[in-house]
Amino acid sequence: MSENIQQKIESLREELHQHNYNYYVLDNNTISDFEFDEKLKELQDLEAAHPEFFDANSPTLRVGGGITKNFPTVRHQYRMYSLDNSYDFDDLEDWEKRITKTIEEPVEFVAELKYDGASISILYENGKLSQAVTRGDGFQGDEITNNVRTISDIPLTLKADFPNRFFIRGEIYLTRKNFEKINKSREEEGLDLFMNPRNTASGSLKMQDSAEVRKRGLSAVLYQYIAEEFPADTHWEILAKAKNWGFRVSEDQAKLCKTLDEVKEFITFWDTERHKLPFEIDGIVLKVNSLKQQRQLGYTAKSPRWAMAYKFKAEKVETELLSVSYQVGRTGAITPVANLKPVLLAGTTVKRASLHNEDIIKKLDLHDNDFVYVEKGGEIIPKIVGVNTEKRDNSSKEIEYITKCPECKKPLYRISGQAIHYCLNEDGCKPQIIGRIQHFVSRKAMDIEGLGGGTIDLLYHNNMISNYSDLYSLEKEKIIGLEKWLDNEEAGLKDENQLQVPLSKAIFALSKKWGNLTIIEAEEISKQINYIDDLILVNNTNKKFLKFKQEFIKANSYINGNYFSLKNYVSLNYLLELKFPQYFKSDSLFDNSNYYFDNIDFIDEILKNNKHIDDKDFESFIASIADRNRVGIKEKSAELIINSIKESKNIPFEKVLFALGIKHVGETVAKKLAKEFRSIDNLITANLSEIASVGDVGEKIAESIVKFFSVEKHIQIINKLKVAGLQFNLKEEELLSNIFENKSFLFTGSLTKFTRDGAQVIVEKNGGKNLSAVSKNLDFLVAGEKAGSKLEKAKKFDTIKILTEDEFLDLIK
Ligand code: AMP
Ligand code: ZN
Repeated sequence: MSENIQQKIESLREELHQHNYNYYVLDNNTISDFEFDEKLKELQDLEAAHPEFFDANSPTLRVGGGITKNFPTVRHQYRMYSLDNSYDFDDLEDWEKRITKTIEEPVEFVAELKYDGASISILYENGKLSQAVTRGDGFQGDEITNNVRTISDIPLTLKADFPNRFFIRGEIYLTRKNFEKINKSREEEGLDLFMNPRNTASGSLKMQDSAEVRKRGLSAVLYQYIAEEFPADTHWEILAKAKNWGFRVSEDQAKLCKTLDEVKEFITFWDTERHKLPFEIDGIVLKVNSLKQQRQLGYTAKSPRWAMAYKFKAEKVETELLSVSYQVGRTGAITPVANLKPVLLAGTTVKRASLHNEDIIKKLDLHDNDFVYVEKGGEIIPKIVGVNTEKRDNSSKEIEYITKCPECKKPLYRISGQAIHYCLNEDGCKPQIIGRIQHFVSRKAMDIEGLGGGTIDLLYHNNMISNYSDLYSLEKEKIIGLEKWLDNEEAGLKDENQLQVPLSKAIFALSKKWGNLTIIEAEEISKQINYIDDLILVNNTNKKFLKFKQEFIKANSYINGNYFSLKNYVSLNYLLELKFPQYFKSDSLFDNSNYYFDNIDFIDEILKNNKHIDDKDFESFIASIADRNRVGIKEKSAELIINSIKESKNIPFEKVLFALGIKHVGETVAKKLAKEFRSIDNLITANLSEIASVGDVGEKIAESIVKFFSVEKHIQIINKLKVAGLQFNLKEEELLSNIFENKSFLFTGSLTKFTRDGAQVIVEKNGGKNLSAVSKNLDFLVAGEKAGSKLEKAKKFDTIKILTEDEFLDLIK
């Protein structure tokens, strides 16, 4: 019986490893996600019921879950050298000359991408992943094996003719897509955003909870083999072999070059193509292909003589600063944003750049209308790296940071030691109020449907809600029929959905007011310019045009793109409202003072000349635009909202805790806190050090929690939510058994039959508790080989039972 189960477990593991390999290395999907999950679940269940067949490299451990408090330092058996850098082709030629001084035969080079992430060294023994260590200072690094196991690109077991013991090195990185995903969810949680994929990747590797590492979605590529002996004579052949063993190697985008000219070609190609890669690279790495030649060349004090990094220059362009605007986040944090004249950079049009905070603006010494250099480095959001002071107008003023909130006009505060300004007017600052409610209803929190930003705004404006606890007293009859008009930005319309007009039509329409150009004249002028702004550069002595130009400069409008969008020009809704009052039942909610034209003829002219409506009935077209920008609550949506609010009363405590929107308390922290404190009341009464001692929480988060609960208003809101029936207690989890109820465990020494993480999960699933130190509260100490001080200390307590690994396994059998 047990043998059968063991066989079943092993065959499932093998099968899942193979599917992983097909998917991640060969890029060939051989099983549906659903089937894969089914099989994984089956394996998980079998493993949970039979811990005696535990294997640290089981595919189930990919999902992570173990906590590592401290990462042990490990000495590298082979030092991890840096790479020498070069920045132009002359540097490369010098390098080749140095090589040919030592080596007479022809030299081949392998050119690879220089992946921008964190380097890693992984030891494989008998075909199994056994240890993964960060680069550290090159001599020693941190052991992060459990975290590395969660990375799908990295094989846990090898295939084919792999050597018995070897190290393989590579880079752990984040794709741009996953980086953006992480930041998006951090933004939703009100957490600081990460700066770039590289730092995020290396930070992720050091997280205590491997399940969190898993969620980050890291990728890996391997590019160097090291051992006593080598399975081939060239680097190129070894990469091919490593691929057969199951690794994702650099070979796929690499090239074997016979001459330096081929190397240069490769570099030139990737210098422009790199922007299309799904991940960041910061250069090219060149390696002498022959291992014999590599040995002849050897190392300098810091780097191999047989390898060279070629670094790309970050792409940089100059453009004009149009204005600085300030955004208010849900936590009241202010983010300054530079609005730029649109410019093409690394394949995308850049219109904005984050300025992060006041210090950065000061450091740049930014003035109004400066010409700035914009660069795209490892960061996703482009960055202003400097100012072209030669182009600065002497009269232009330094950018002065705002002192009042752009939304509620209350003074801003900057906490000492921090760079960010905050608006503290929590209860009177609209974006904060709306933002908190939006967060509360979001999918990962209370998951209430039908309440987008616009609808929340609508309820708020109608005094139906002032904070999220008010949602629970909404009544269906009272919200049906509420209506509000949004401008394009508020309505969340993307650029491509905005009403846009060709440049010639815009000029023609504008000239109705000033100068009356013919459509042919307008078309001619439009051909001479790319942006409507550039009208002022056009030299044309046509009197009508001169008049037009003069008025245009006066109006001082700015427009982006080849097409000029009404959004930036005039409040479309305002005009529509004037022209078609029948569509605008409620009072105007616009206090948009940015429009320059309230001339109805102007919009008529534009709309009639717009290609979008050539063949449509004009009035119904207007009605459809109007509808697009209207939020109204009809009976159906009112029903959805009210039902969904009711259902949210079953949302578990950990999500309710997250929904409250306590600063720095993201999904994960909320989960940890819920598990540790089990009820909101326990958390409210806990003190700072009790909260800070929960894994991954720490001082800063704990302070924010204590502060949150010290506000009387927050307690009132929570009480109101309690009355409404929300879950403020943790529901007991399903356990495999309760044989360890009221028993506590601690594992020490090096364990060989199971990993610490795996064992701790077993303890929890059977109702027990894991402790991190020896104390009188401890019941069992499980000691592996070379157990040290913890074992000594435990021996001093009569009440602590000391177990071997086998004795522990016997307990669960
Ligand atoms: P640097 O950190 O700029 O000195 O560059 C050296 C680092 O480049 C190494 O430590 C590796 O982490 C990284 N690297 C990225 N791609 C490669 C590659 N294909 N071959 C070798 N090293 C690489
Ligand atoms: Zn404010």
